[in-house]
Amino acid sequence: AAKAAGKSAYRRCTPALRESAVSRAELIADLRRAVDEQQLLLEFQPIVDLATGTVRSAEALVRWQHPRLGTLSPARFLPLAEETGLILPIDRWVIREACRAAATWQDRIPAATVAVNIAAAHLRRPDLIATVTEATAGAGLAPRALTLELTESALIEGSDAVLDRLSQLRELGIRIAIDDFGTGYSSLSYLHRIPATELKIDRSFVARLSEDTRAYATVEMVTRLAGAYGLGVVAEGVETDRQHDAVAAIGCVQGQGYRYGRPAALAELRTVLARSGPPDVNGVAESD
Ligand code: C2E
Ligand code: MG
Ligand code: MG
Ligand code: MG
Repeated sequence: AAKAAGKSAYRRCTPALRESAVSRAELIADLRRAVDEQQLLLEFQPIVDLATGTVRSAEALVRWQHPRLGTLSPARFLPLAEETGLILPIDRWVIREACRAAATWQDRIPAATVAVNIAAAHLRRPDLIATVTEATAGAGLAPRALTLELTESALIEGSDAVLDRLSQLRELGIRIAIDDFGTGYSSLSYLHRIPATELKIDRSFVARLSEDTRAYATVEMVTRLAGAYGLGVVAEGVETDRQHDAVAAIGCVQGQGYRYGRPAALAELRTVLARSGPPDVNGVAESD
């Protein structure tokens, strides 16, 4: 009976499995062409000063305009990109494009920075420094106007060479954010060694702020920790007024989320920046 059940389960699964295997292989083949065929695009999401509403920064988020499947989110293709190593050319493209975009708003809002996400694989590469410096120099962007967002897990698997690389990037003036903070397993002693400039509190804590006292305590603790370490702090995923009020009351400095603006095309971000008020010499980008 077990064998029969196994067999029918097998039969039921096969077509779906085969289909997903084919589309996976196809997707990988398509992804190989995506950078060259200019199918990737960036959206930008504002990061605001909670006290004033001033836009401080924008995070560049990659999308793939697939010729048949339409616009795909990072969750649909970044795992494949990471498995195949295609994440490296993708991230290189993102860094270059993000720097170019930031150069188009720097004359207006010199204090506003651009943030890009960096995959763990990229962090392990010695040429990350060259990639980043060529991108900023090529765009005519000051290094301090670029933030690299790294996840805790990417940092944890990092060797001393990775920490050295991050220190070199910091010496060049590039900012380093720890993304999705609180979801990894980094110890405080490890955090102490990473030359970070800011912590981004994961949106799962922000989402549960009002009903979960531990989530509230976590946001409070990370905000205090950031203050004590002299780091900037961003609450991610702020969607509602209530969440905004809570993170502001806790003393979090910056926020990002649908409450302030969804990821959008560069032109839209430039409009938001233009409305956001005059350049502020006390802006976060100038503070170091
Ligand atoms: P992340 O770096 O934590 O980026 C924030 C994600 O949260 C984005 O999803 C953004 O659209 C979403 N988000 C922003 N505000 C809200 C909100 O109020 N509510 C909710 N529910 N979501 C919000 P997205 O664009 O789908 O990106 C997902 C992840 O993919 C990013 O998480 C990042 O880890 C990765 N990623 C995106 N672009 C790149 C890239 O160019 N390179 C690399 N290596 N990773 C990227
Ligand atoms: Mg990020
Ligand atoms: Mg995040
Ligand atoms: Mg995330």
